[in-house]
Amino acid sequence: MADPEVSTQSGGYDVELFVDPPDYDVICTICQGVLRCPVRAACHHIFCKKCILQWLKRQETCPCCRNPVKTSLIFVMFKLSKSIGRMKIKCKNEIRGCTETFPLSEQYCHSMSCLYELIPCPYQGCRAQLLRRDLDTHARHCEHWRQPCHMGCGTILSHRTQAQHNCYKQLRQEYEARQRNHRAIATALQRKMRRMQSTMAHMKRQIGLICESLEVMDDLNEVEEEDLGESSGSSSGTPSSNISNC
Ligand SMILES: [Zn+2]
Ligand SMILES: [Zn+2]
Ligand SMILES: [Zn+2]
Ligand SMILES: [Zn+2]
Ligand SMILES: [Zn+2]
Repeated sequence: MADPEVSTQSGGYDVELFVDPPDYDVICTICQGVLRCPVRAACHHIFCKKCILQWLKRQETCPCCRNPVKTSLIFVMFKLSKSIGRMKIKCKNEIRGCTETFPLSEQYCHSMSCLYELIPCPYQGCRAQLLRRDLDTHARHCEHWRQPCHMGCGTILSHRTQAQHNCYKQLRQEYEARQRNHRAIATALQRKMRRMQSTMAHMKRQIGLICESLEVMDDLNEVEEEDLGESSGSSSGTPSSNISNC
């Protein structure tokens, strides 16, 4: 009896899983478990689908009544499957402390949230296996713990770098340094402007003086011309009123 396919068959649900002892008519005669995906042969005997298919590979007769069974003549019993799905079971993690009970059909759903489910640490590189309820405690010390900075700076932090990381403070310091720098530039520009203004005032005064001296020279020229005219004609000359504004 070394047929591995037959010897490893375990199609049905473990009877021990059920809160109340299951009735005899939901037990598979091949695996002695509660029917998983029950099918009925032409002889009306019922088995787990997996169990009977494996059985038929070896001999094409019913394991209960020895009548011939054809693979094409077995039918899935949906109604029975549903009523088995409503049977209450205990959590498979009962041994670890889970006391919850729920319909068989919700087994998968429960295992996804069961606090006593053994799961691998989600952080890459960590090999720890732990109960889901211990995950938070473990994460606080796990050396593979990684999380992006919650301030959104994009840095991936570990427990070691998290303590020193303060991108907000760093950003503030950079901002303040930039502000100081801008203030210094503004002060320098103001000083430069004042210097330029005083240079301009100085130049204005110089131009004024040049204009004045030009006027004086013009007046002198006119006086000379008049003197020349007087020696040849009338003596009643009017002084020049040619004053130009510079
Ligand atoms: Zn079975
Ligand atoms: Zn039969
Ligand atoms: Zn559980
Ligand atoms: Zn870990
Ligand atoms: Zn940050």
